[in-house]
Amino acid sequence: MERIDTLVIGAGVVGLAIARALARDAREVMVLEAASAIGTATSSRNSEVIHAGIYYPAGSLKARLCVEGKTLLYRYCEEHGIAHRRCGKLLVATSQPELAQLDAIIARAAANGVRDLVRLGAAEAQAMEPALRCVGALHSPSTGIIDSHALMLALQGDVEHAGGLVALRTPVAALEITADGIIVRTEDGTELIAQRVVNAAGHGAPGLAARTRGLDAARVPRAFFAKGSYFTLAGRSPFSRLIYPLPQHAGLGVHLTIDLGGQAKFGPDVQWVATAEDLLVDARRGDAFYAEVRNYWPALPDGALQPGYAGIRPKISGPDEAAADFLIDGPAAHGVRGLVNLFGIESPGLTSALAIGAHVAALLR
Ligand SMILES: Cc1cc2nc3c(=O)[nH]c(=O)nc-3n(C[C@H](O)[C@H](O)[C@H](O)COP(=O)(O)OP(=O)(O)OC[C@H]3O[C@@H](n4cnc5c(N)ncnc54)[C@H](O)[C@@H]3O)c2cc1C
Repeated sequence: MERIDTLVIGAGVVGLAIARALARDAREVMVLEAASAIGTATSSRNSEVIHAGIYYPAGSLKARLCVEGKTLLYRYCEEHGIAHRRCGKLLVATSQPELAQLDAIIARAAANGVRDLVRLGAAEAQAMEPALRCVGALHSPSTGIIDSHALMLALQGDVEHAGGLVALRTPVAALEITADGIIVRTEDGTELIAQRVVNAAGHGAPGLAARTRGLDAARVPRAFFAKGSYFTLAGRSPFSRLIYPLPQHAGLGVHLTIDLGGQAKFGPDVQWVATAEDLLVDARRGDAFYAEVRNYWPALPDGALQPGYAGIRPKISGPDEAAADFLIDGPAAHGVRGLVNLFGIESPGLTSALAIGAHVAALLR
């Protein structure tokens, strides 16, 4: 059986960032990816927003890794020439009762170390974005947008430059914990034995953990799938910043994001579905988008929204539960030497990727 120091399972943005961090620790690293290209799952079905770290509960991994990850990501983009823009975002209150929530958000952001939010009156917000209707807003200057594919290519380049390898079309079927290391079986029957294994398989991570012989089943969370559909705007964006309503239970509300090409899109909404493959956008969901978007952009013309794409949040908490934190289980959590499982790496996973990489490398040191 071939021996290898470290295997990372999954070449999404998180798996690649972890592989980069481990390869920089001078480890021999191989990434095993089921698909025929890197980053084809959730990492290419998101809003491509660099989040500031505003909403997450203080002390949570989401809060810490998002705030650290944002700083690392801006620096990495600058050093590697990755297209990005610190365009800023407005978080808008559209009714009087929502105004009080803005103050709560400022306090929560400050607890997370985000102290650059600026409270705006309606007239100040509308001076920045004349198409906007609101009764008050917060400006987050450190929110931005990024070309996530360029990021993933740069991370893959770093892994390979450090001597690592990304093996595509290599789905992992099962793992087995032994005294000698962790046996990794791929679907074609190949077996490798590794000293360290990182399960960064996104939607596939809970299933793979359940197929890990020797891992306590109590350390495997149940997977839930919260689909988010996007609708693109025909014509020019009326806004130059990202526009967000106040956050909702399972998502951030139907917001407007702009990509680096200037295309505006609205979404993602929240629809609990049964599988991670349910990716078609139902055009009928657009009706609800008109009503939600017109709360902050009343001039949205009829017929301007076209079905775009959908992504599915890899949740580990269900519709009636409080939103779960990222779950990053290392040896101290499950007692298995050399194994790290990542579960529930939904938003802000893209923003946090480099910080998650450093965190996992530390768990394995
Ligand atoms: C609608 C939506 C919007 C979002 N918007 C943002 C945003 O604006 N900003 C932000 O910071 N975050 C955002 N996120 C979150 C972000 O997209 C994710 O956190 C991130 O992409 C997760 O990356 P990952 O590498 O963990 O997972 P994935 O990208 O899903 O990668 C997992 C990889 O593992 C592979 N795999 C699975 N099973 C196996 C197996 N058995 N063997 C080998 N390979 C396997 C898959 O093929 C896949 O390539 C959003 C998410 C969604 C759903």
